[in-house]
Amino acid sequence: MLDVAIIGGGPAALSAAVNCRQRNKSVCVFGRSLDSSLLFAAEKVDNYLGLPNISGEDMLNQFYTHAVKQGVEFKETRIKQILSMGDRYMINADNQFIEAKAVILAIGLSKSKGIPGEIDFLGKGVSYCATCDGMLYRNKKVIVVGENEEGEAEANFLADVCESVTYIPLYQPVLNLKENVQVKEGRPKAVLGENGKVSSLEMDGEILECDGIFFAKNSTPPESILFGLQTDGKNIIVDRSMATNLPGVFAAGDCTGTPYQIAKAVGEGLVAALSAANFVDEKARENK
Ligand SMILES: Cc1cc2nc3c(=O)[nH]c(=O)nc-3n(C[C@H](O)[C@H](O)[C@H](O)COP(=O)(O)OP(=O)(O)OC[C@H]3O[C@@H](n4cnc5c(N)ncnc54)[C@H](O)[C@@H]3O)c2cc1C
Repeated sequence: MLDVAIIGGGPAALSAAVNCRQRNKSVCVFGRSLDSSLLFAAEKVDNYLGLPNISGEDMLNQFYTHAVKQGVEFKETRIKQILSMGDRYMINADNQFIEAKAVILAIGLSKSKGIPGEIDFLGKGVSYCATCDGMLYRNKKVIVVGENEEGEAEANFLADVCESVTYIPLYQPVLNLKENVQVKEGRPKAVLGENGKVSSLEMDGEILECDGIFFAKNSTPPESILFGLQTDGKNIIVDRSMATNLPGVFAAGDCTGTPYQIAKAVGEGLVAALSAANFVDEKARENK
């Protein structure tokens, strides 16, 4: 079991990883490629102490090399779900399940807008992960809303399990769908429900009845990754130790709010790492 699982891949995650290793904790960074960090797009950074006039790409590469030298493990993947198992967390990394004693979320700024009802019905018919929740919809009617081609894989997986799958692509071209997936053009407007459960999706002037709606997004809202995580709009709510409302879960960087700056992300990564290390040590003392 890992001591600390870090979700991200930008400055906050890499700082947290280096500082977890300084405290001799085993750590893996579950992140997407380096170029998905916002920093990668910065042509020139001139406000980070000691590293003037550097491109975002060079800076990220230096941070990454530092982390590798400290013995940080990396797994390139997008995490869609983390499950609380009481005294530990289970990270679902492309259906490989990895346990960790503590988690640091450093997932950057969420660009996910969401439609009315989407978050309200999370876990009650709304899901962001077909392989995680698909079996709950065996022989039922589902809709998949895809912002990118990952949605096609989700729809194809559900096509083997569900009574019917309707796919709403929000991009073009759609290339790789099974024959029994129905494609519907249009823009979703709202998730509607009855008796606390999803009952339909409102499109432009049309209501599509369904039992479940899966969203495949370019950027997932944080509360969809970890059920019960408290957020305030786009930001994960943390205290000064970077602790969230969930025991053993910490957050750092742009995902906790403004200012969206590298120095803040790196500093919060350090604090989250120290807090996570303390959490792991305390649990070990309690279990002796
Ligand atoms: C053009 C531009 C110029 C900038 N210039 C400056 C500057 O000069 N000075 C400055 O201080 N700041 C600058 N910034 C801001 C700075 O880049 C950010 O504040 C910083 O990158 C935040 O770091 P972070 O680690 O919190 O998030 P990010 O760097 O955004 O990293 C988040 C990472 O998490 C990954 N991720 C998200 N969800 C998941 C998931 N579910 N599973 C796995 N991985 C996931 C993302 O793919 C990404 O790699 C600039 C930003 C931009 C866009």
